[in-house]
Amino acid sequence: MPKRRDILAIVLIVLPWTLLITVWHQGAINPLLAARKDDRHESRRDSRNTFTLKKPCSSENNKDIVEVVHTEYVYSRPPPWSDVLPTLHVVTPTYSRPVQKAELTRLANTFLHVPNLHWILVEDSPRRTPLVTRLLRETSLNYTHLNVETPRNYKLRGDTRDPRIPRGTMQRNLALRWLRETFRSNNRHSQPGIVYFADDDNTYSLELFEEMRSTRKVSVWPVAFVGGLRYESPKVNTLGKVYGWKTVFDPHRPFAIDMAGFAVNLRLILFKPQAYFKLRGVKGGYQESSLLRELVTLNDLEPKAANCTKVLVWHTRTEKPVLVNEGKKGFTDSNVEI
Ligand code: UDP
Ligand code: MN
Repeated sequence: MPKRRDILAIVLIVLPWTLLITVWHQGAINPLLAARKDDRHESRRDSRNTFTLKKPCSSENNKDIVEVVHTEYVYSRPPPWSDVLPTLHVVTPTYSRPVQKAELTRLANTFLHVPNLHWILVEDSPRRTPLVTRLLRETSLNYTHLNVETPRNYKLRGDTRDPRIPRGTMQRNLALRWLRETFRSNNRHSQPGIVYFADDDNTYSLELFEEMRSTRKVSVWPVAFVGGLRYESPKVNTLGKVYGWKTVFDPHRPFAIDMAGFAVNLRLILFKPQAYFKLRGVKGGYQESSLLRELVTLNDLEPKAANCTKVLVWHTRTEKPVLVNEGKKGFTDSNVEI
């Protein structure tokens, strides 16, 4: 049986050692914690990254292993509404198909980054569908949800794509009517706005929306992957005026431009109430001209995207992958990044 004096002696010996070891251990850990704290401060400064890749670990044979430091994810939506910026009324026709929800989700994710954007989504259907209704409600974007069904005799039969059959035309026209009915009455006092037709299957850079925001009448810019080219573009002279079209497909169209390649000032839409996209008797590729010729002349066009030298929107290629290029008739510049 150990005596009380022996136990006390053991405790007195073990305790200082325990304390000593604990202090040592803390000393080794603290610099690591301090480094972590620094990382977090740094990450706050650059809060748009979801994570940062740090320098390779110090060990020589571990050069290709990187440390991933998670940082805060700051995300607020929708983008703030400004009283000074014109509203962008973005018109999108859409119809039910297997990829519809994916396309609309992708589009909504883009629009969430754009200040003062009002999405006019027009369903090609006899009624507004629960899928689109739910999707719109959940995006927290500013939106107007409309619908009109394209009559069956205008619809495509089977898989064939007939360029004379209009796609999304009635839906775009309904949006034009809605804009006129909504803003006509208080024209002079209504907030300045720009109208843009953004199909649900294209890809839009955020820069594009800032380019179109200053549209006075009609602004124009290049569009990639249309008309069998890498990109189509308005031709701009040294004075910054549009004088023609870099296209292969029917360059004699009055406005040889894709739907994604122009925006119109809302005032002009209200001022020319008869201007609509023509549904009947329009040759393939003349949809855009049928509206634009009612609104402006070539001389009025305002080139954007660095005088039409930058590609900021990409069409989803639906024709055969011809992609005629640069060189052919000297049309498009291979130096342009797309
Ligand atoms: N669209 C529609 N109804 C249709 C076919 C197309 O509302 O029957 C919409 C489609 O969702 C897209 C736009 O109209 O926003 C253009 O259609 P698509 O991309 O198929 O045509 P393209 O780009 O070849 O002109
Ligand atoms: Mn398309």
